[in-house]
Amino acid sequence: MPKQVFYEPDALNYPLGKKLINYFEKTNIPMKPTTSHNRVIGIVGDTPGEAYREAKHTLVIGIRRSKTFQTCKPSAHYQLPLATSCPGMCEYCYLATTLGPKPYLRIYVNIDEILDITRNLIENRAPEITIFEGAATSDPIPVEKYTGNLKKTIEFFGQEPLGRFRFVTKFTDIESLLNAEHNNHTRFRFSLNCQQAIKQFEHGTPQLLDRVIAASKMLKAGYPIGFIIAPIFKFENWQDEYTELFTLLEKYLYENMPSNWSPKDLTFEFISHRYTLRAKSNILNVFPKSKLPMKEEERKFKYGQFGYGKYVYDPDDINELKEFFLNKTEKYFPGAKIEYFI
Ligand code: SF4
Repeated sequence: MPKQVFYEPDALNYPLGKKLINYFEKTNIPMKPTTSHNRVIGIVGDTPGEAYREAKHTLVIGIRRSKTFQTCKPSAHYQLPLATSCPGMCEYCYLATTLGPKPYLRIYVNIDEILDITRNLIENRAPEITIFEGAATSDPIPVEKYTGNLKKTIEFFGQEPLGRFRFVTKFTDIESLLNAEHNNHTRFRFSLNCQQAIKQFEHGTPQLLDRVIAASKMLKAGYPIGFIIAPIFKFENWQDEYTELFTLLEKYLYENMPSNWSPKDLTFEFISHRYTLRAKSNILNVFPKSKLPMKEEERKFKYGQFGYGKYVYDPDDINELKEFFLNKTEKYFPGAKIEYFI
């Protein structure tokens, strides 16, 4: 539950806005109007860490007014914005950099208008298939219990022969989505890491076993599923920790797979740990005691495609990691599709 709620008064013109504002009025949670969901005044904290935590407990109910979506290369054609941020506090969350020092949660109540834009974008590219990414600006699962927007979007794509939807989550409140009519047009991806990384860096998110169980439920419900394993760290015992991750996946996925399922239907994305100096400075502002390995002298500097440089593992380390993860994938899930390893 949020600690405070803000809403744009125009949100009351939409059924979902009315429902949510009525709902929060009946709780003891303080709620105030705000003139814009982009500029919310009233999230305070004496330190960057306090302001960040305050933002993570703040929910803003707004209307998305832009008439188009941003592109989302290379994994999809467009972002599909349903929400921003999430209540988790992962130290390496890229949204902490893109959303600024107060990454408050925001939900959009004009879902029908958002889906109208989606429909137009699909029609513009017909007869090609158009792919939309639902997690470019948020983890969409934690606010689903309030909005139902994700289920509506999944069912919208179920009816769209030329539209495909994908998103990624670390959260496990997926029960309401199990019976959605997805028609195999939505790929449900889970973001995983080894237990040690989750415990140390992914504050306020479900543990590994719970994510794997949630993934197995989605598999059983017939969804195409996939995994992003990120960020991958090379630390003492990393092989044991990541082997355990594959063992858990093997146990729960094969136990729950539908009769016509093959590991070839799975996708994997692997991202080794990297950071920019800007991200490092933001992380240390919010988590001054962070144990994230961010020593420039232990990394290789590499220019990114957007012009800024990042610190990545040494090529020999990356090759070792890559070989390990590709071999494990083939051993446990022969034929699974590896989208990329970076
Ligand atoms: S769960 Fe995802 S969106 Fe939420 S803080 Fe962690 S990395 Fe960021």
